[in-house]
Amino acid sequence: MSEINKKTVCPLPWLHFSAHLDSTMRICCNSDHLGFVFDDEGKTMKLRDVSSISEYFNVKYYKNIRSKMRNGEKPVECRKCYEVEENGGASVRQSYLECYKDNEKFNESFNQTKPDGEIEPKVQSLDFSLSNNCNLKCIMCNPDASYPLKQDFDKLGFEYSKEFTQGAHINWKDETPIERLIPEITEHLKEFLTTGGEPFLSKTHIAALKIIIESGKAKDVTLSYHTNCTIRNEELFRLWDEFKHISVHFSIDSHGPLDEYIRYGTKWEKVLSNVEMMLEKKNVHAEVHTCVQALNIFNLPELYDWIATLKNRIPSLPYHIWMHHPSWLHINILPREIKQGALDRLKKHFEENKNGKDHFYEERSTQICSYLERSIRDEQDLEGLRVFKERIRKFEKLRGQEPVENLVPELKCLFE
Ligand code: SF4
Repeated sequence: MSEINKKTVCPLPWLHFSAHLDSTMRICCNSDHLGFVFDDEGKTMKLRDVSSISEYFNVKYYKNIRSKMRNGEKPVECRKCYEVEENGGASVRQSYLECYKDNEKFNESFNQTKPDGEIEPKVQSLDFSLSNNCNLKCIMCNPDASYPLKQDFDKLGFEYSKEFTQGAHINWKDETPIERLIPEITEHLKEFLTTGGEPFLSKTHIAALKIIIESGKAKDVTLSYHTNCTIRNEELFRLWDEFKHISVHFSIDSHGPLDEYIRYGTKWEKVLSNVEMMLEKKNVHAEVHTCVQALNIFNLPELYDWIATLKNRIPSLPYHIWMHHPSWLHINILPREIKQGALDRLKKHFEENKNGKDHFYEERSTQICSYLERSIRDEQDLEGLRVFKERIRKFEKLRGQEPVENLVPELKCLFE
């Protein structure tokens, strides 16, 4: 691959098969709604509309993306990745390129790409956002991704896309496309990412895993998940033994009662026992993923202390997700002096715990402090704060939750 190609090419349009929450086909989960794949009539496609893998990868839309990437152009569908790179960050594209740069099948497929972008697809990566079936009602979520939230949003009169929510609720229930397409995909398969909703609740996922196991290819495949850690699915955990590796991202935003408040429906004791159980399995690699937001910015040290009790079985700090949506939970709604207090607390924690920690710890602790420092320089989002106060109280009343300031006293001043 030439140096020019390295600046624009992403392996995913060559080898990745991905479907959104409502089973709409997309280039990848990072391409958002911009990355929906269109058929030759210009219509989006659901998983059930894919008649064969070869036909799907060679619709005009896909060919055009690949030929642009090969010609040193940046397709607009992938702008999120290119923007990150232009701002000096590391993009998802770059991480996939690093991962697949010496992959024989990808290089063969790339080198044999026809001038118009046509390929003989060898799918190595699957990525299904398997419906909005979920058991929790997290405060930052919406009915698109958690069907039970529909009831709360309806009662409170909050807006959401009814059509998408319904599609995400029913479109994955038909397992026929999985039974038809997965056997065609398994030959070269290396990785299978499943998100939700809550993926551990998905029957479709179990059906897909059984087909992969029957094909005899499971030992070549790594399974990846984002899970809320509240579901113990014994059948799924037994099937894991057949696969090469299991990579699990524990979605946990705080420790104990505050996690129960943010991720409504969570029982912390259940999280603890499920995390222990997953970490006991030999082929499981895990880390905590934390949505950094106005509600948990003060309490991150308690979360870090709990992670430390897991004694080196997972990375010592979580992967921090800078939460932008919904904007009323962004840390920019907080006054500067409050954020300064949170920053001082974090710095003190890192100073007291730095001994014996690795480069990775240093990198993540620096990132979270820089994020707060940048936010302290930003203007406070007063409109966001207004919505925050209104919505928090409405959710608390509907759910019979105690006021958030009982759990996070630093937020008390916002309501005075
Ligand atoms: S460049 Fe980025 S958005 Fe485009 S397919 Fe690759 S990872 Fe997805």
